[in-house]
Amino acid sequence: MMSEVKEQLEQVLDQIAAAAQRSDRPADAVRLIAASKMQPVDNILKLIECGHRDFGESRVQEALAKTDALEEYPLNWHFIGHVQSNKTREIPGRFNWVHTVDSEKIVRRISDTAAATDKVVNLLLQVNIADDPDKHGLRPQDVFPLLDRLFESALPAIQLCGLMTIARNNVSETETRKAYADLKQLLEQCQQRFGDEFKELSMGMSRDYELAIEEGATMVRVGTGLFGSRP
Ligand SMILES: *Cc1c(COP(=O)(O)O)cnc(C)c1O
Repeated sequence: MMSEVKEQLEQVLDQIAAAAQRSDRPADAVRLIAASKMQPVDNILKLIECGHRDFGESRVQEALAKTDALEEYPLNWHFIGHVQSNKTREIPGRFNWVHTVDSEKIVRRISDTAAATDKVVNLLLQVNIADDPDKHGLRPQDVFPLLDRLFESALPAIQLCGLMTIARNNVSETETRKAYADLKQLLEQCQQRFGDEFKELSMGMSRDYELAIEEGATMVRVGTGLFGSRP
């Protein structure tokens, strides 16, 4: 098992490097987030032993146990599940990144807790780029107005870092590519208006991370492609 996960990691990292090169970027322009939801701590440890540091969790409750168990390691924890407003207090101090913010209320709640605990949390806005009725996220046209309000209100404990999307299931590669290209275009418009630091694009999972990178992803969230199917 140890060697299996290690081999999977090496293979994914090779494919990330190759896809980055196809989009004229160095391999380290893309950060691999191991989506470890539902994986036991032992599986996460196997990746840590290979030097991996970025992990994504989808449920606050499940993540609390894991971040406690792995406290001794210098890890980056990414929250990639839907953020419920009654769970925001648990996020700062545990997670350095939240990929799935889609309302002003959630941003302010995370910011308030982060300020009180002396942490800074990096936030990405989740965008429902292809208007998928099954997905959370902002409508593309609501991104600018929200960012306008947030950048105006000087929230010291958060960094607004970029955009995230989850592609539709069961659509053609062409459609997926178009969704990712649309998100990249929206990011570029945001950068023109809000500055170059707004630069992260979290898109792509096991089934499509290579094409997401070709379309400009700076972060990919890979679960089954590293760990095998979830237990
Ligand atoms: C679980 C999850 C992933 C990873 O999915 P795989 O298909 O296992 O790679 C990526 N993004 C989000 C938001 C997830 O919840």
